[in-house]
Amino acid sequence: MFQATLGAPFFVEGCGVHSGNPCSVSAFPASEDHGLIFVRQDLGENNIIEASYKNIYEIAMCTKLSNAHGLAVSTVEHLLAAFAGFGIANAILKVSGEEIPILDGSAAPFAHSILSTGIKKQPSKRKVLKVLKYLQVEDDFRWVSLSPDDNFSVHISCDFKKNGLETRPASFDFSKDDFAKEIAPARTFGFLADVEFLRKNNLARGATLENTVVFDEKGLPLNADKLRFPDEPMRHKILDIIGDLSLSGYQILGKFEGFCPSHKMNHQILETLFENPNNFAIVP
Ligand SMILES: [Zn+2]
Repeated sequence: MFQATLGAPFFVEGCGVHSGNPCSVSAFPASEDHGLIFVRQDLGENNIIEASYKNIYEIAMCTKLSNAHGLAVSTVEHLLAAFAGFGIANAILKVSGEEIPILDGSAAPFAHSILSTGIKKQPSKRKVLKVLKYLQVEDDFRWVSLSPDDNFSVHISCDFKKNGLETRPASFDFSKDDFAKEIAPARTFGFLADVEFLRKNNLARGATLENTVVFDEKGLPLNADKLRFPDEPMRHKILDIIGDLSLSGYQILGKFEGFCPSHKMNHQILETLFENPNNFAIVP
């Protein structure tokens, strides 16, 4: 497995799902071992924010990164998932605005932009992290775990019964499944019952039926175009996990499992992974 970057720059603009404000991102190729960085080009000095779990600042409904100077960028997970999905670890992401555009609520527009640039392979080997131990984090309701495996795969189940939505367990295995087809198109979702709470907390101000699947009390989508997959919410959860775990800075070899995973849990399992050097090995 080799490192990769973009074949050419791309540009996307839209609005932030939480702020409702206009925002844009210009993505540029970067050299080997560069990593992914965000640059708040609208803010002047000290505006580089490395895409690292160390910079995770807040995780209420999305993943927000902040640098040591307090400059931040929010809702990075879908864009990061698209880069991780195609194995691109080197790029410069120049951002205007406090959020990454939500676009259609999925990673498909980012995936399309990346593919249209032509992915450029680089001579150096990819940075690979092998999970060596079973690790788990949990609260009263949710849990997620990482365990040793030869591939990166995600296996989750959720319980949305109180929202009237029946779901089945879902999985994605990077060694055989197609990220662009199976995961990238799955959109952000929410429940009609939660809209008032979110708006009161200044969240989802930019959410519309154009960028979010909204389920009513019976678990039926309000969107005119219905669902892209019968299990679209589960696939979107997997998308978020792929984006969040890419903040490790490595291609992970390990099995991610979880019940009702959240951005917070995804962050906690990365912290747990890195808190003890015996938990992992960096594979040359
Ligand atoms: Zn998401």
